[in-house]
Amino acid sequence: MISVDDALRKVLKAIKVIGKETIALRDSLGRVLAEDIYSDSDIPGFDNSAMDGYALNFTDTTKASVEDPKILEVIEDVKAGDIPKKKLNKLQAIRIMTGAILPKDADAVVMVEVTKKVKIKGKEFVEIYKCAKRNENVRRAGEDIKKGELVLRNGTLLNSAHIGVLASVGKSKVRVARKPMVAILATGNEVIDVNERLTPGKIRSSNSYTLYSQVISAGGIAKNLGIAKDTPSQLINKIKQSLGCDLLITSGGVSVGDYDLVKDILSKLGTNIEFWKVAMRPGKPMVFGLIRGIPVFGLPGNPVSSMVAFEVFVRPAIAKMLNQSAPSRKEAEAILQEDISKKKGLRYFLRGNTTWRNSSYQARTTGPQGSGILKSMAQANSLIILPEEKEFIKKGSKVKVRLLD
Ligand code: AMP
Ligand code: MG
Repeated sequence: MISVDDALRKVLKAIKVIGKETIALRDSLGRVLAEDIYSDSDIPGFDNSAMDGYALNFTDTTKASVEDPKILEVIEDVKAGDIPKKKLNKLQAIRIMTGAILPKDADAVVMVEVTKKVKIKGKEFVEIYKCAKRNENVRRAGEDIKKGELVLRNGTLLNSAHIGVLASVGKSKVRVARKPMVAILATGNEVIDVNERLTPGKIRSSNSYTLYSQVISAGGIAKNLGIAKDTPSQLINKIKQSLGCDLLITSGGVSVGDYDLVKDILSKLGTNIEFWKVAMRPGKPMVFGLIRGIPVFGLPGNPVSSMVAFEVFVRPAIAKMLNQSAPSRKEAEAILQEDISKKKGLRYFLRGNTTWRNSSYQARTTGPQGSGILKSMAQANSLIILPEEKEFIKKGSKVKVRLLD
């Protein structure tokens, strides 16, 4: 039996980065950037006002107060998008709106709230009630991003803020990793699809749906191959349908039962089996290999095992295909809220609830942990990871958790 770490190493070694494509910026949420992005300009592109107010020379406001305001002549109005035309002389101000170009000779903006417009002999003036500081309310060109600066790296999983940055630097289209096409095949004589009639001995194929959505959430395109009965002909037939895909996931039929045919059929079809059975719980009976160069994961049939094995192996595999630089699941240290006994030699992934309390994460299990109990997974927001060498973990111990949302 191979350890989780060795198995993951083998998986990542076998998986290759797939191709790239160019897409519209608007469609890029959740995609992985396939190029480094440099800014084509300074952002902001020019010195501008951070406030609605008056652009002026800060020295003209020295000692200004409510009791003793400074009075400046208003010589121009500059809206956002305008280009200031007038030259600012001593004791003059220019009315300015947020985002408008700062006039050349101004070195500060006083916000409108500490001023008052006044008319003196038909001319417009402003009373300033507060002493300004140099650069007050001024946003300098390039203070956010400098022209030529590396703003986003190849491999970044794009979120809304990244997309905003891409728009700011003029990228209407972006190079991203192509989404891998992932075929999903459920197996089992007892397994039926959700819209079929449930008769004695049959179960609905929840795995076809959890895996489908997990693939999408990992950044892949899911292709449902349906359900194969535990017969060589059906398995061969369905598996062959996956050969145009980038990755194949099967569920069920990889244990040691008489009708667990998946591993043998994969071998028969020329799969190079890299490992079978991993020292973990749940998820032990699982197989990984390359079928004509296409990676294939034979995941266990139990609903929780299949989901957990996906999290542990398939999600990182898809991330590698996408050349994603950081894992999408974060890990943290938490304080265990209960005693847990376990089998030595296996790494455990328990369904957990992790909450932030008293300045630390606290983790507890979500009830019965049988690998068929999907409810425990539905109630979990994390996996509590317990190391191989331990047999008993005391309440209050520090444990690793992988956050699922
Ligand atoms: P197996 O790995 O084929 O021995 O299946 C282990 C358990 O998982 C059995 O109780 C199966 O009925 C169940 N199972 C197999 N495939 C699915 C599936 N697609 N959806 C839900 N449960 C399944
Ligand atoms: Mg089965």
